[in-house]
Parts: sequence; structure tokens; C-alpha cells
Amino acid sequence: MSDLLAISGLVKHFDDRRGLLGRITGNPGALVQAVNGVDLGIGEGKTLGLIGESGCGKSTLGRAILRLHEPTAGQVLFDGTDVTALDASDLKAMRRRMQIIFQDPYASLNPRRTVGEIVAKPMRIHALATGSDLEDRVVDMLNRVGLNSGHLNRYPHQFSGGQRQRIGIARALIMKPKFVVCDEPVSALDVSIQAQIVELLDEMKQELGLTYLFISHDISVIGYVSDRIAVMYLGKIVEEGETREVLENPMHPYTRALLSSVPHLEKTAGKRDRTRLKGDLPSPINPPPGCKFNTRCPLATELCRQSEPELRHMQGTQSAACHLSLANAEG
Ligand code: SF4
Repeated sequence: MSDLLAISGLVKHFDDRRGLLGRITGNPGALVQAVNGVDLGIGEGKTLGLIGESGCGKSTLGRAILRLHEPTAGQVLFDGTDVTALDASDLKAMRRRMQIIFQDPYASLNPRRTVGEIVAKPMRIHALATGSDLEDRVVDMLNRVGLNSGHLNRYPHQFSGGQRQRIGIARALIMKPKFVVCDEPVSALDVSIQAQIVELLDEMKQELGLTYLFISHDISVIGYVSDRIAVMYLGKIVEEGETREVLENPMHPYTRALLSSVPHLEKTAGKRDRTRLKGDLPSPINPPPGCKFNTRCPLATELCRQSEPELRHMQGTQSAACHLSLANAEG
């Protein structure tokens, strides 16, 4: 069966020629290479977890898929339609089927609108319901996410962080989309609330038959929610495969480093070689030549500094972009 969402060669560069980053780095002619040629597929009803450090380009990728950031190049096929080729009116219609849940439930809700107005807004924009029909649908969606009709006339500041994220989820799902980008949906929440929101998203997925791109920097969250995992580093996918295989036998040194950084996952990692992550993510304005991870990889060789490895099949469902892993897989 073909994927519901198929991304090929997706690129998003930001022109920073007059921007702050260019002035800070002394490189005013530069482009910010946020997403640099990504190929991914997501099967209907599945969750693809996208993991990587802050600044690796994963949120930009999620937004480029929805054209909240206009892609620089590449194709996004959704249910057979090329989203990148849609005109404004067809794109608006497509947005009913492709939605996003934002990270920050404080910043993403209009403080001057009531919960009823916020959740009803997408239905109004798309003229899908009015009057009592609209109110019934808003209340139904609030009930589904654990809120109720008593919350309709309250304002966002009257809710806790977890409740605000429930409002954001209701707003994203009221039009019954098929595909949702969950952009770090639990990162801004207390740990005790994170599990409730993850459970809610899973329930909604089952009830409404949703397909998710779930973005997070927390590999334990990604491991819990995902059918497959894609690991992103400096604008590129460096490993991809079924969740269990990637977590049990990561092929890329960066994936191993991410796993090593989670204490309770160390036990499941057994006694294999560990890669400790040192230093910071290089600037997307001036990425290193060769393998983008070579400046932090303890296994880097001269080949890694000169030649960029492609994402290649390694074993089972796993692909990785690493010269060493490829040599080991072939050897
Ligand atoms: Fe490390 Fe080289 Fe593999 Fe890159 S290609 S991850 S630098 S071993």
C-alpha cells in the first residue's frame, strides 16, 4: 500500500542575507539551510516519530510539509496530491485534511478569544457549520479531549498548561483531518502532564483514524508513540526504520548518542558501544563538509570529513547515512 504522505527531496532554506544570524556570524550572504533534501513516507494510520536536537530542522520540516513555510524545493504528495503545486484556494481546502498541533499551548492560543471561539474558528474559516450545529460540534470535540461545555466561554489564561494543550488539540482535530503534524506537543508541559497528553493523542488517533508526524527532541516520548522513527541531524535524515529496530540496534552514531543520553534507556541498550554526544550542533548557515556529524562523531575518519554519506539501506527496515555503518553492514 502506498504511503498517505510521501516527501521527496524536500528543501527549506531561509534567506538571511539581511538577517540577524548573518550579522552575528559575520556571514551576511548566507542561507540558513534548515531542511536539506529530505525523503520520507508515512503510511495511513501510522505515526512517524521525528527526533533530533533543537535547531536540527525538524519543526521547519513539519511546517514545510503543510506549506506554513513555503518549501524551497522538493515534493510533498498527500493522498496522491502534490501539496507543493496547489494554488491558494486548493491549499486552503487541503488544510482541512492536514493540521498541526503546536508546541507552546500558551503562545498558540489567542488570549482575547474564548475557548468556544478558538475551537470553532477553523470551522468558520472553512464555512463547515454555523449556529447550534457549530456549537454542538465544538462541545463534542471539547468532550473528546477531556473538556466540557462549561469551558466554552472561558479564556485561555483560565486554564492549566495541560488543559491549554487539550484546547489546541481540539482546534486541530475539529475538522476531522487525516494527517496531523504534532510539533513537540508535550515539550512545554510538566512531566506529570506529558503522559496524559500523549495518551489523549493516541486515543484521538484510534478514534478518528489519524496519521501523525510526531516531532520531539525526547527519544523516550518518540519511542513510545511511534511506529517508525526518523532521526534528523542538521537538516537531513541520518537514520530511519521501525521503532523497535532503531531503538534496539541503532545503526548511526548520532542515534546511539541520543539513546545514550537517556538514562533509563541505557539498560535496554545493553553493553554495546556507546557514543557520547559532545559539543553543539553546527550552524545551519555554515554546515561542515562531508558527513554533517563528523565534527562531533568519535568514529570520524578522513573519508567522513571529505564525503557526505547517503541514506542507504542497512538491515531489516533500517536505513542510515554513515560510511562506517555501511562498511560494517556490507562486511
Ligand atoms: Fe561518524 Fe563518519 Fe558515520 Fe558520519 S560517516 S556518523 S562521521 S562514522
